[in-house]
Amino acid sequence: MGRYIGPACKRCRRLGIKLFLKGDRCYMAKCPIDQGHSIPGMHGGRRPRLKDYGVQLQEKQRLRNMYGMQEGQFRLFFQRALRARGVTGEMLLQALEMRLDNVVYRMGLAPSRRAARQFVRHGHVHVNGAKVNVPSYKTKAGDMVQVRDAKHSREYAKVHLDAAESRGWPPWLNVDKTEFKAEISHVPTREEIAPIVNEQLIVELYSK
Ligand code: SF4
Repeated sequence: MGRYIGPACKRCRRLGIKLFLKGDRCYMAKCPIDQGHSIPGMHGGRRPRLKDYGVQLQEKQRLRNMYGMQEGQFRLFFQRALRARGVTGEMLLQALEMRLDNVVYRMGLAPSRRAARQFVRHGHVHVNGAKVNVPSYKTKAGDMVQVRDAKHSREYAKVHLDAAESRGWPPWLNVDKTEFKAEISHVPTREEIAPIVNEQLIVELYSK
């Protein structure tokens, strides 16, 4: 599966919002978005006025980049959300939130989703006592996610857990910091999901 490995901040500047791709730097004053940097490129400066399609496309790009996914995989998630019972936009957001790499990021075991994906990929994470190294693994309510009992795994996680604790954990995760684990108490509701995108525009885009 291909992935974007170019400059992260350029993505945020292009799309005009904070995508939180760089970990701790995203919470500091030196974040280019907080500093008011404009769109990248030689002629950057003025943001073009978008028509309906452009607005929908931009919203989709924002959400897709926030979760670090390629178009094909993102579309697959959308199609699954379309088939699920419920409001499609909400189903999509919930499916994205329940990915294992996102849960690891929300727990604060890694500073960004990109780092969380690598943390999972390298086998540092267990789900219900078994090693899972698939970042897109679909977790469910009641699952227990834990850092494996290895010194270097837990040392890495500890640094980021402390920072996450100061920012606060989402209400759908019962985090036990001393045991490096969290129970997913429930599937997050729309209000409990942080992305600041209008998911309805994405549904409209893919429904054309
Ligand atoms: Fe860069 Fe993070 Fe700011 Fe985005 S949110 S511009 S990745 S520092």
